[in-house]
This record gives sequence, C-alpha cells and structure tokens, in this order.
Amino acid sequence: MDVLEVAARATATGPVCDACLGRLVADRSFGLSNAERGSALRTALALRDDEDHEPVDTGACWVCEGRCTEFNEWAERAAEAAEGTEFATYNVGTRPPPLIEENEALLREEAGLDDDAGEPFKSEFNREVGKRFGRLTGAEVSFDRPDVQFTIDLAEDEIDAKVNSTFVYGRYRKLERDIPQTEWPCRECKGSGRKGPDPCDHCGGSGYLYDDSVEEYTAPVVEDVMDGTEATFHGAGREDVDALMLGTGRPFVIEVEEPRRRRVDVERLQSDINAFADGAVEVEGLRLATYDMVERVKEHDAAKRYRAQVAFDADVDADALAAAIEELEGTTVEQYTPNRVDHRRASITRERDVYEATAEVDDARRATVEIHGEGGLYIKELISGDEGRTEPSLAGLLGVGAEVTALDVVAVEGEDEPFEREEFFRD
Ligand SMILES: [Zn+2]
Ligand SMILES: [Zn+2]
Repeated sequence: MDVLEVAARATATGPVCDACLGRLVADRSFGLSNAERGSALRTALALRDDEDHEPVDTGACWVCEGRCTEFNEWAERAAEAAEGTEFATYNVGTRPPPLIEENEALLREEAGLDDDAGEPFKSEFNREVGKRFGRLTGAEVSFDRPDVQFTIDLAEDEIDAKVNSTFVYGRYRKLERDIPQTEWPCRECKGSGRKGPDPCDHCGGSGYLYDDSVEEYTAPVVEDVMDGTEATFHGAGREDVDALMLGTGRPFVIEVEEPRRRRVDVERLQSDINAFADGAVEVEGLRLATYDMVERVKEHDAAKRYRAQVAFDADVDADALAAAIEELEGTTVEQYTPNRVDHRRASITRERDVYEATAEVDDARRATVEIHGEGGLYIKELISGDEGRTEPSLAGLLGVGAEVTALDVVAVEGEDEPFEREEFFRD
C-alpha cells in the first residue's frame, strides 16, 4: 500500500505522534528516525490533500500514550542507575505495557497493514534510549555481553541495571606443594565443618581440606581491586594437589561479578597478587579479557612437560632404564580412568601420546624422569602402570614397581593469547 494512504488511515484513528506514525513504515526507508519519518509523512499528506500544512497539535498519542516523548528521560535515568560503575559497553531492553502492544496491533489493522509491518514500539524504544544514553556517557552499544544491561519496565516505571562480570586472564605458577587449585570442600561434612559443638574430625571443623588454594591466593585480590561481589577462578586444567606448577605457568581466568571497576592497571594488580600470595603462588601475563576466555581456557587441553621423581622397589641399572624410556618415547598410551580420579567422572579408556621421554638415574632405586605428553596424559599412572590400567608403563617395561614421589609441571604449551578488552585499549 502507498505510504501516504497508510498515513491517512493511521492519522484518521485519532491523535498519533510522529514516532508512532513513522514506525508503521520504518521498513520502507532508511537513515531517518521514526519521528522524522512521521513528520515527513504528515507534511506530504497535508500537501496531497491540499490542507494547510502548519504543524497540527495532535494531542497525546493514543498508541504510545506519550511514551515516545520520554526517550531523554529514560536515558538520564539509565545514567543514574549506572552511576559509580565503570563500563565501556551497554545495551537497553524495554518491557512495554501490554496495552501499548495492543494499541500498536490495532493501529496496524486500522492502517491496513500486516501485524509485522514497520518496527515494533519496543525496538524503537531500545534504540532511541540507547542512542541518547551513548551520547550522555560515551559508552558503546553492544548486543553481545555488554558491561551493563538496562531493562526498562514501562508499566512499573522502573529501570534495572544489571552489571555483567568482568574477566582477568593470566598464567600461574604454584611454587609450594599441597595447594589445590580451587577451594576443596571437605567430603565428610560437605564444607559445613559441622559448625557448633560437634566439629568435623576430617577437616578439623574448617570445612576445607586445605588452608590455601591458588584461587584464594589470587581471586580475592582481583575481586577487591575491581570492587566486585564475588570472584571465581577458572583454570586450564589442574595439576595434582601435591604437584608444583613451574616454568611457563598454567593459564587461568578470574571472573569478577558485578564489578564497579573494570579498567584496572593489570601490572599493579599482578604485583598486588604476587605480594599477597607471598611466594606460594606467582602470576604473570595478566590481561583484561573478554568472557569468551573462560570457555577457551577450560577447553585448553594443551601438551605439557613434566618432571617426576621416581622410586623403584628393586634396583634398576642405567641401561635398562634407558631402554624402557626409549620404548615410551613416541608411544600411544592406553589409560583406563585411574582409581584416584574423581569417581563422579565416567570411567573410560583413553589414548594419549608420549611425545618425548628422558630419564636420569639418581641412584639404584631412584631416577628423575621428564615427560613431554599430550594434554590429559596421567603421569603418575604412566610411571606406575596403575595395576595394569595404564599400558604401556615404565614399571611394566622395567618389570619393577615404580612410583612417582614428586611431580612438577614445567610447561603448559599451546597458543592461548587472550581476547583482550579492545575498547579499553583504543585510546
Ligand atoms: Zn506515539
Ligand atoms: Zn569436614
């Protein structure tokens, strides 16, 4: 249908504002706001009908009930709602009152249009308030995980500002043994410590099996600096509690919920963490990252280099050890899920490659073994054979019992350059 005919029918229904009029035909022209479209239509219509085209007072619009005059006001309310919070990106969503949606449907019907013609009131409201908010604050609109998500509830006359998490990427080294990566709740009391007169024997009432964790040495510092409400540590896999993490360190992401500060000095944050962790844990390469890094870090199944101190239960000579190590190098190992691994995980047999293996005899009963292996290779079991569940193994090849007495991860490999928060670095 001709746009002027649409405009004639729409304006005949009663007072309709320029925005509501223009929105009916928003899909027929580009580069204008709906209010500009509506105003142009009204002028053209007056010319066609040879009427005096002085702007007419249309009164309160029956379709939006005057809401289309409130864009500035809502943009200002959004800025107030986010005051005191640092953000670079935002998005605006609107819940229109049901009555307005009914009015819209009615107007389309009266104007002879399909239900989905033009643009819905809701999207115009989101866009117009969003544009104004962007001008007020200098932030950029983003539909993919904005820093702040506003929801305007027109019927309730309320605006909600949801502050999304922010993320810091880095690598950690663990320089002391017996530190788990994350808090380890006691399995006897399930973390409660059984408060009161009957403390849990297993954990001494603390609820945790270990006093410290890599998470506790790092996440609270980040939470504090970013002034958030909660911080969570996500590691790219984890070493055993009794293993050191040396060399390159292991990638991690710390997620901070509802941060009031995002654009922090990462070098300073890094030295704050390292001072707090006091030599037990060390972090490096800290960066402000995007939320995608959590998944990337969790899926990171990188090749690793390990150094293991091995004890044999009978004498082993250097030639026999060298021959066994040569067998292991380049081999594909079949490992049935080890006994010591969390039994909530499904037990499966998996294949992992040993890329390189070297060994040095320390004395007749002890050796230092270095393994460069595929992500997911269980090193303790590769050495011990895990009662036949890992094949081949160093113990199996030697025909001698072998056990890892100390294990260090010396490198976590792989490309894992973080997705940085680019908008923070543009200037
Ligand atoms: Zn209106
Ligand atoms: Zn307990």
